[in-house]
Amino acid sequence: MEPHLRKDIISSNWVIVSDERASRPNDYTTSNKCPFCRGNEENTPPEIMRVEKNNRWIIRVVPNKYPALVYNTKNIIETEGIYQKYYYSGVHEVIIESDEHNKIIYEIEHFDKVLEIFALRMREILKKDNVKYVMLFRNYGVNAGASLRHPHSQIIGLPLLPVRITDEMSHFKRYRSKHGRCAFCDMIEEEKRYKKRVISKNKDFIAFAPFASRFNFEIWLAPLRHNPHFYLEKNFKSLKNILFDVCHMIHNTIKNPSYNIIIHTSPCSANDFHWHIEILPKIAMPAGFEWGSGFYINTVSPEEAAFLLRSGKKASKISDVGCQKTENRKRSNSLKSVF
Ligand SMILES: [Zn+2]
Ligand SMILES: [Zn+2]
Repeated sequence: MEPHLRKDIISSNWVIVSDERASRPNDYTTSNKCPFCRGNEENTPPEIMRVEKNNRWIIRVVPNKYPALVYNTKNIIETEGIYQKYYYSGVHEVIIESDEHNKIIYEIEHFDKVLEIFALRMREILKKDNVKYVMLFRNYGVNAGASLRHPHSQIIGLPLLPVRITDEMSHFKRYRSKHGRCAFCDMIEEEKRYKKRVISKNKDFIAFAPFASRFNFEIWLAPLRHNPHFYLEKNFKSLKNILFDVCHMIHNTIKNPSYNIIIHTSPCSANDFHWHIEILPKIAMPAGFEWGSGFYINTVSPEEAAFLLRSGKKASKISDVGCQKTENRKRSNSLKSVF
């Protein structure tokens, strides 16, 4: 069945139905040769672009072989009883971030260049007809949905605005009309003042555990200066540094971490949005209450998460939060079950 969108008429949830994706290789469960490794280039669809160093590629961008959405389709709505199937075109690309298979993000020296390619591809995909939004995400670890271990990110050009982004946009707008300022800029000022939820900061960016974190160790990373669009960002070296710092902390504090890194950029030309990266470690799975209500129960307060991440950075390798010393031992032991 060709990939298409369906909208639930009760909840307004959009769903992409793409059963071809079920047949994609999974190197966590099989020993297939990795299509992203040097020498296996013919196993990916024809390359969109590459970055070379000393005449060898270090970054490749290719179409996803098992796309969630395809571009070569006309926008067709097919009615089926009371329902509609939307055969809308979209884009699904993979950014292979390194030629080396087993690198953790902070071991990829040229990651500033990778971030620059993220911005470039976002800009290019947004120019395409019918693309209303670009979502860039990086899944690390089997619990975060990564099917291939090889370092890579994915970018999806969507024919409509995702509900989460339209929600965020409307809150940005509402906050600005009430207070005359950007909600995220105010949030950054508040976090700088309060300090306890700040995880890392440099001259251009801040990373903090958001006040209403949904997940254990949820982290948001954003530019200190207001900027709605990720693809207008210029400080990629500085962004790489803080991202590496935060990822080091995650790997030091959490045993075998799995996490998603997601870029939220403005859905339109308006100035209201403030681009940010959400880093979502997968520690406790959402359960019945979360699925049923849309509410989240977070068993690690953001203040505690920020404290553990910051102190883990200084400690030698901690294999489990339960090994934290001193005043955290009691509280941390009670967290053991979620790891
Ligand atoms: Zn590989
Ligand atoms: Zn702002």
